[in-house]
Amino acid sequence: MSFRLKTILGIALIEGVLLIILIIAGMQMLKSSNVEELHKRTYTTAQLFATTVKDAVLATDLASLDNFVREVMTHPGIVYARVSGRQGAVLAQAGDGALLARPPKPDTHYDDVGDGVFDVYADIVVGEDKYGRVDIGFSTANIDALLSTARNEFIAIALTEMLLVALFSFVLGAYLTKGLVSLTQTSQRIATGELGGQIVVSGTDELAQTMRAFNEMSHKLKVFYDERKHAEDEVHKLNADLERRVQLRTEEINKLNADLERRVRLRTEELAQAYERIEHQALHDPLTKLANRTLFQDRLHQAILTGEREKRVFALVMIDLNRFKEINDTLGHHNGDLVLRETASRLSEGLRQSDTIARLGGDEYALLLPTVKDSVSAIFTLDKIVQLFEKPMLLDGLPTYISPSLGLALYPKDGTDAETLMRRADVAMYEAKHRKSGHALYTADLEQDGMDRMGLQSELLSGIANAELVLHYQPKIDITSGRVGGVEALVRWHHPKRGLLAPDDFIPLAEKTGLIKPLTTWVLKEALRQCKEWEIQGLDLVVSVNISISNLQDPVFPQILSHVLSESGVSPAKLELEISENGIMVEPPRAIEAILCLSQLGVRIIIDDFGTGYSSMAYLSKLSVARIKVDKSFVKDMVDNNNNAVIVRSIINLGHNLGLNVVAEGVENNATWDQLKLLGCDSAQGYCMSRPIPAEQIPQWVKSSSWGAGITEEAIK
Ligand code: C2E
Ligand code: CA
Ligand code: CA
Repeated sequence: MSFRLKTILGIALIEGVLLIILIIAGMQMLKSSNVEELHKRTYTTAQLFATTVKDAVLATDLASLDNFVREVMTHPGIVYARVSGRQGAVLAQAGDGALLARPPKPDTHYDDVGDGVFDVYADIVVGEDKYGRVDIGFSTANIDALLSTARNEFIAIALTEMLLVALFSFVLGAYLTKGLVSLTQTSQRIATGELGGQIVVSGTDELAQTMRAFNEMSHKLKVFYDERKHAEDEVHKLNADLERRVQLRTEEINKLNADLERRVRLRTEELAQAYERIEHQALHDPLTKLANRTLFQDRLHQAILTGEREKRVFALVMIDLNRFKEINDTLGHHNGDLVLRETASRLSEGLRQSDTIARLGGDEYALLLPTVKDSVSAIFTLDKIVQLFEKPMLLDGLPTYISPSLGLALYPKDGTDAETLMRRADVAMYEAKHRKSGHALYTADLEQDGMDRMGLQSELLSGIANAELVLHYQPKIDITSGRVGGVEALVRWHHPKRGLLAPDDFIPLAEKTGLIKPLTTWVLKEALRQCKEWEIQGLDLVVSVNISISNLQDPVFPQILSHVLSESGVSPAKLELEISENGIMVEPPRAIEAILCLSQLGVRIIIDDFGTGYSSMAYLSKLSVARIKVDKSFVKDMVDNNNNAVIVRSIINLGHNLGLNVVAEGVENNATWDQLKLLGCDSAQGYCMSRPIPAEQIPQWVKSSSWGAGITEEAIK
C-alpha cells in the first residue's frame, strides 16, 4: 500500500472516527434535550391537569372529571389519562385500556420503560393535603420520529462530510506526498542503476530538506559511482589486458607444451622404435630379416621345454648352401647377399607360419619344424625344401643353380638338448653334402663321421704345413696319337688318423674356409716340382692343376703362380690350369679377365667339367682358354645313354668350332674311347686308361701301359 494511500486512509480514518463520535454525541445531546423537554412538558401538563381537576375531585364531580379526562385525551401524544381519589380509587379515566390496566406505581413517575409510553403523574394537593392524583401517558413515538429524522440528517451530513474529508484528504495527501513520490520514483530509478537523478524541490520544510539531502546524496552517489565505475573499468581493462596476456602466455605455454609433448612423444616413439629395432636387430639377421642364432636358440629351448612338458615331437633342420663360397667369392658379396636373401624368401614362402626359419651365419640356415613327427614326414618335408631350389636364381641376369644340403634331427629321438640336436642336425647336413644327396636324416653311425669332418677343418691347415697332402696323377691320352700328353694332379690327404682322404672330403671345406689358397699354392709347387723331376728323368709331361674359383678371383694369384713357376724352373707351357665351368659362369666378365691374365703368363687354361655350367657362346668365345674338358657325367655312360652321347658330340663340335681342344674325362671303357675317337675328341682321361696314381708310379705306368706309346723309350728309362 502506497504511502499516499496510507496517508489518505489515515486522515479519512481519523475524520471518520471523529465524525462518528460527533454524531453519537450529537444524537445523545438531541435525545437528552428531547427527553428533558418531554419531561418538562408532561410534568407541566400533569400539574396543570391536577390543578384543573382539583375542584371536581374535591366535589367528586365525576361528570366533570370525565369531561376533563376526555379533553386531555384530545391533546396529541396523550395515550391515556386517569384521575384517582384519596385511596387510589379511579374517578375518571380514558385511553388505552391495556396501559390503564397496569397497576399504578404510587409516588413515582413512570419512566420510559421501552413500551413507547412515557408515564407521568401529579398529585392533587390542596394546602398540605393530598386528595388524589392524575396519571397521564404520553406516547414517545413523536420523539423517536424526531430523533430518527435528526439521525438521518446527521448521517447524511456525516457522509457528505466524509466524502469531502476523503476528497480533501486525497488532495492533501497528493499534495503532501508529491515530493515523496518523486523521491520514491527517483530512488527506484537509482535502484535500477539510473544514478544522479534529481528532484525538483521548492520550499524549506522538512520534506524539502530531506529531498535536498537526497539530491545531494544522489549526486554524490553518482559521482562516487562514476568514480567507482571508472576505477572498475580501469580494473576491467587491466584485468582484460592481464587476461589477454595470460591467455597469450597460456597459449604460448600450451604451444610449447604441445610441442614438448609432441617431441616427447616423437622421442618416445623413436625410442620405442629404436628399442624395437635394436631388439629386432639383436634377434634378427639384418640381411634376410630371419631370426638370428640367438632367437633361434631361444625358440629351440622353448620348443624343448614344450616338448618335455607336452610330450611333443619336432624336427630341427640345418641347411648349408652348396657352392656358396664360390659364388660369394667370384660374383662378389652383392650376389652372395642376393643368394642369401633369395634363399630366405624361398624358405619363408615354402614353409609354414608355425615353422621357425633362422640364418645362423654365412650360408647356414636352421629350421624348427613342429609338425614333423617322424622320419617319413621328415623326408617328405626335406624333399619339399630341396624342391624350393629347383628354379635357378638370377645373378647378374644369369640363371644360376643353387642347391642346399639339409640335415635333420628329431626331438627327442636324436637329442633332448639344444646343443646335441644342433650338432646332430649338422652331422646329418654334412652327410648330405658329402653324399651330394640334398638331404640326410641323422643316424647314430653318422655321428663319428660328422665329428671327424668337423675336426678336419682345423687339421687341414696343419695338414698342409705337415706335408700330409699328397698328389696323385691321372694320365691324359691324346686320342689321335694314343700318346700320354700329360697328367692331372689330384690332391689327397694322408690324414694321420683317417688315412687317405679324397678331395671331395676336404676341398669343399677348404673352399669354404679360405684354406683353398694355401692348398692350391702347395699343389702348384708340388706338381711343378714333380713335373721338373719327370723332366729331369726325361719324362715330358704337361701337368694339369685344378684351381678353385677363389684362386681365379684372387688378385695376387697370378703373382703367386708366376713366382712358383719361376721357382720351379718349369716352362709355363708345361702347366695347365683346370677351372670348373661352374666357377667361370658365376661371374664371366671377371673370369674372362682373370683367365686372360693367367694365360698371359704362358700357362694353358682348361674349362673343367664342361657341360655342367651353362656357359654361353658369347662368353666362351671371349675366354682365352686352350681346352674344354667334357664332364665325366656325360662321358661315363655315353655308350648306353644316347642323350649323353649327343651332348658329348655337341660339346666336341662346339669346342672345335671355337678352335678349342676337347678332352673327355670319365672314360671308363674301351667302347667310350672308341666312340670319342669317332667323334673326333682330342684327348681322354679315365679309369679305363688309369686311375689317379701316386707320382712314383707314373713312369712305370707310362712304360708298361699301351697308352705310353707316345713316350720315348729313353724317357721311360
Ligand atoms: P675333377 O677335376 O673333375 O677330377 C676328376 C675326378 O674324376 C677325379 O676325382 C678322378 O679320380 C675322377 N675320375 C677320373 N677318371 C674317372 C672315371 O673314369 N670315372 C669316374 N667316375 N671318375 C673318374 P677326385 O680325384 O676324387 O677329385 C675330385 C675333384 O676334386 C676333382 O674333380 C677336382 O674338382 C677336385 N680336386 C682334386 N684335386 C684338386 C686340387 O688339387 N685342387 C682343387 N682345387 N681341386 C681338386
Ligand atoms: Ca680336373
Ligand atoms: Ca672334371
